Amino acid sequence: MGSITLRDVEKTYGHGAHAVKVIHGVNVEIADGEFVVIVGPSGCGKSTLLRMVAGLEEITGGEIDIGERVVNQLEPSERDIAMVFQNYALYPHMSVFDNMAYGLKIAKVPKAEIQARVEKAAGILELGALLDRKPRQLSGGQRQRVAMGRAIVRQPQVFLFDEPLSNLDAKLRAQTRLEIQKLHRELGVTSLFVTHDQVEAMTLAQRMIVMNAGNMEQVGTPDEVYAQPATTFVASFIGSPPMNLLHGQVAGNRFTIGDVTLNLPAPAPRDGALILGARPEHIEIRPDGEWPLTIEMIEMLGAERIVYGHMGGELVNVRIDATDAPPSAGTTIRLHVDATHLHWFDAASGRRVG
Ligand code: ADP
Repeated sequence: MGSITLRDVEKTYGHGAHAVKVIHGVNVEIADGEFVVIVGPSGCGKSTLLRMVAGLEEITGGEIDIGERVVNQLEPSERDIAMVFQNYALYPHMSVFDNMAYGLKIAKVPKAEIQARVEKAAGILELGALLDRKPRQLSGGQRQRVAMGRAIVRQPQVFLFDEPLSNLDAKLRAQTRLEIQKLHRELGVTSLFVTHDQVEAMTLAQRMIVMNAGNMEQVGTPDEVYAQPATTFVASFIGSPPMNLLHGQVAGNRFTIGDVTLNLPAPAPRDGALILGARPEHIEIRPDGEWPLTIEMIEMLGAERIVYGHMGGELVNVRIDATDAPPSAGTTIRLHVDATHLHWFDAASGRRVG
């Protein structure tokens, strides 16, 4: 079975005075057949975590299981995994067929079996007509499909993807995302996928792990993470444009941001220093809105417009449909947010409190 379990996994690079801890005790269980995405900004430790599962990087503390086995001491080749990299890592002098077959030849799989597995993978990935070509005769998207084909033919328990779409242009990235989803539906192989792109994470993940500075900030389905971000970091990292986060003081049903005091549609979880979160698409512009905002700028994004202004020194962005008549810059509008769409975070820790 292809489940993956990480128990208190830690990583420190360097020794003594030069030691830098980059993974601070990660605990997560990934079920057999699940598609999990690790997402976070550059340098947060995503690749290090994936490479530790792959066995390309030693772990400093904790335990990693794949299936029923503890794999801490196993070589990558013994872990029953296949990895797809950002730079494809294809052999330039070999044909597509030979690139896909290479690992099987080394593993001394019989020729007829290799032929059958490569043809099957080529069929799934629509590479059948390209098997005699060399990598330089392929587009970036086709090369990435060959890299995936090479992983598929090995019939591993686990696929590990390290930012595999980063070298593709935006259109091809979107298309390849759909292909990866289809592949996962057909093969049902446990997959761990690393990306810095929150859209990629939201669209591909059954569950996502949001990382920040070597810590897991939140683990959940894309819906859960979007609707109930556990911290201000997650709230601002997932979603575009990001959630509005307004630092202020709560007293009863009033919230003071700088020199502005707002009436709240529902009481906050407690009084004192809190951060109020509201997603741009959950803020309505309406005449009886409780909160005034003077518009400084409006951005046209095609299907939507983003209206910007400041409230007590904090930047606020509001999303409106591009088909709605836009208000003009310089005018003051009134905003309303339904109580169900308010998020509250502790001002010191950034943790969700309601
Ligand atoms: P991500 O994949 O999220 O961009 P990485 O896992 O590559 O992040 O890196 C996490 C942290 O570990 C970064 O601060 C990076 O500088 C550091 N790091 C990565 N590899 C090494 C290394 N070989 N030696 C020292 N520090 C490293």
